Amino acid sequence: MSDYDNKDNQDLKDKEKDYEDVCFICRRPESKTGKMFQLPNHICVCNDCMHKTMETVGQFDYQGLLNHTGYPFGQYDQKQTDIPKEDEKEDDGEKADKKSRGGYRGFPNISFINLADLQGDGGIPNRQKPKKKKKGEAPVINIRDIPAPHIIKGKLDDYVVGQEHAKKVISVAVYNHYKRVATNTMDEIEIEKSNMLMIGPTGCGKTYLVKTLARLLDVPLAIADATSLTEAGYIGDDIESVVSKLLAAADNDVERAEQGIIFIDEIDKIAKKKNTTSRDVSGESVQQGMLKLLEGSEVEVPVGANSKNAMVPLTTVNTRNILFICGGAFPDLDEIIKQRLNKQTSIGFTAILKDEFDKEKNILSKVTVEDLRKFGMIPEFIGRLPVVFTLEGLNEDMMVKILKEPKNAILKQYQKLLELDEVKLEINDGALEAIAKKALEKDIGARALRSIIEEFMLDIMYEIPKDDNIGKVTITREYVEGTGGPLIEIRGNLLLENNTAHTERLQ
Ligand code: ADP
Repeated sequence: MSDYDNKDNQDLKDKEKDYEDVCFICRRPESKTGKMFQLPNHICVCNDCMHKTMETVGQFDYQGLLNHTGYPFGQYDQKQTDIPKEDEKEDDGEKADKKSRGGYRGFPNISFINLADLQGDGGIPNRQKPKKKKKGEAPVINIRDIPAPHIIKGKLDDYVVGQEHAKKVISVAVYNHYKRVATNTMDEIEIEKSNMLMIGPTGCGKTYLVKTLARLLDVPLAIADATSLTEAGYIGDDIESVVSKLLAAADNDVERAEQGIIFIDEIDKIAKKKNTTSRDVSGESVQQGMLKLLEGSEVEVPVGANSKNAMVPLTTVNTRNILFICGGAFPDLDEIIKQRLNKQTSIGFTAILKDEFDKEKNILSKVTVEDLRKFGMIPEFIGRLPVVFTLEGLNEDMMVKILKEPKNAILKQYQKLLELDEVKLEINDGALEAIAKKALEKDIGARALRSIIEEFMLDIMYEIPKDDNIGKVTITREYVEGTGGPLIEIRGNLLLENNTAHTERLQ
């Protein structure tokens, strides 16, 4: 054998070492069960399951069921040589008859699954769970590598417009969280987890903020929707499925997943239902079910699948160091806050007019735990999200900035696309304002921007490649509002064509 082959074999063996066996019956890994029985076709069964199986089999009335060797099924194969010679002399007819009567081939009317059939394509992946790293190896997160809060915020500034307070809070909370993870000091002064609750209208950048953060910190991120979660056993996703999503985001690396971030959106949708007599399986029960996860517990999650079933291996993930960030728009929470504030101020000398807070713009930032409880969040749940902060709704100014300032701003993306055709794209200030105004009318935050731009850019992206002479396109307010066309400049000569044949065609 050549050196090359030897090396390949060694590589294969090294790779094999990265995996551990999983019990075919209970799906627990070798690290939990101890040494396994190795059956043919790479099937492994743990000691417990093997004993249980043998006990179950032992409860049968063996009279006439055992094979001639005196061994129950399964062990028969190994002892084939012990089969009495006369069996070998039997002709086929006799053998078949004996089989149906419960001869040495096993139990009558009971068929056992041929385990080998389950192998191969679409079979059960028996060895999936990657081994955990040994103790003493370098931790995934080094305390010196954690950027200071001002650096985290600085990086967030490159992508997220406005939301200064939110960015500051999140930077500090994340910094503290990973300091806690890196030092792992759980002595008498236990640092508490900084799980967060983000409140802000739709499209103001909640998901975007978390996504950017996870990318900057290079930690796995799972984004889940609270609306799809239900209490275990009901239709919908189990609460623990969020952890299995994170494991998938970490490429099944348990250690990396255990230091990741889980973002649960639409958390307001699992508020306690008011005036309900039926069991609240997708509201209060989900909050109850999440308590354990938020605090930190060991959960058994399926590897490579969303739900637990007999066909997927399970692995244990500890959520103690997973950072949970919950986000929601909490509609009508402002009414609850106003009511509280009005009540406070309508007593005594400081009484103020009742509608004093009606005009206040940033009323959400005055939120308290009491308001959230009134909204329908249970106190234990809020208690496990100690960092509560709000994001502002976007105004016209912020919309304009979102269009052009972030590192991957939508405009920059289109400019890059057209640059590949050697065409310069510009959007003048009037056009930016018009787009921002249109977006605000839709009331879905910055999400409206993309659809508005896509609408008018479609024609440009379609027409420009037709004419090689076009060197520059300028989008104007009139074009956005549908009352005019864009300005087209022909390559080479700086002649500005306004509303000429090109523009008409582009409308
Ligand atoms: P939500 O608050 O509903 O989770 P998202 O975070 O999904 O909203 O925002 C939708 C999109 O709008 C994002 O993908 C992002 O491109 C853009 N966006 C929203 N807010 C901002 C912001 N403050 N800065 C930059 N982009 C933003």
